[in-house]
Parts: sequence; C-alpha cells; structure tokens
Amino acid sequence: MADFVDDVQIDSLLNKLHRLQGELIDEADSLKQAAQPVKLDQQSFGRVSRGEALQQQSIAKANLAQCQERIQQIDDALRKIDNENYGYCEACGEKIAVSRLIAKPESSFCLECQDKQEQNK
Ligand SMILES: [Zn+2]
Repeated sequence: MADFVDDVQIDSLLNKLHRLQGELIDEADSLKQAAQPVKLDQQSFGRVSRGEALQQQSIAKANLAQCQERIQQIDDALRKIDNENYGYCEACGEKIAVSRLIAKPESSFCLECQDKQEQNK
C-alpha cells in the first residue's frame, strides 16, 4: 500500500472535506446564536442564572472560534487540492501519512511537526 494519497483517496477526502465543512458551517451558525450577548429579560433563559448564561455564552464563543478555525483549515486544504499540493507538511515539506489525512483531512502538518507545535503552545 502506498504511503501517499492517490487520486481515489483524494476524491474521497475531498468529499469528506466538503461534508465536514457543511457540518461546521451549520455548527458555527448555531454557536453564533448561543454566543449572542446575554439578555436577561428573555423568556427563553427560564431559570438559568445570569452567571450560568454568561458561562454558556463564553463556552459558545470558544467553540465558535475553534469551529471557525477548522473551517479555515478546511478551506486551505480544499485550495491545496485544487493546486495539487495537498498532503505535504507546511513545516517540513514532507508527505503527510495517508492514515493521518484520512483521520483528519484538514491536517496541514505531519504528526511530528504537529506534536512540536503543540509542545510550543
Ligand atoms: Zn512536518
């Protein structure tokens, strides 16, 4: 088995990326609603206290940021497929393992570089 993506795999990853992007856009839409400024006079808050509402709002904001970051990564991956330079690590230029791309098609770093990045955070 080849260790680099072939055209058939690219096709299935492309489908996966489009589907994932659609899901994330939907998710971002509902998170945007949840991240709206807290209004206490609204019936919909029911018995939720102001503190809880604010906490939920900040969680929604964090999730929204994460969601938007992934949408961005997927955009980048789709652009790379278009330009036929998809599947290479942005840090070291090495090929990213197929298994990794299948698990996370928007990956722009190989496992090694991703680990390094996370350690630097
Ligand atoms: Zn790398």
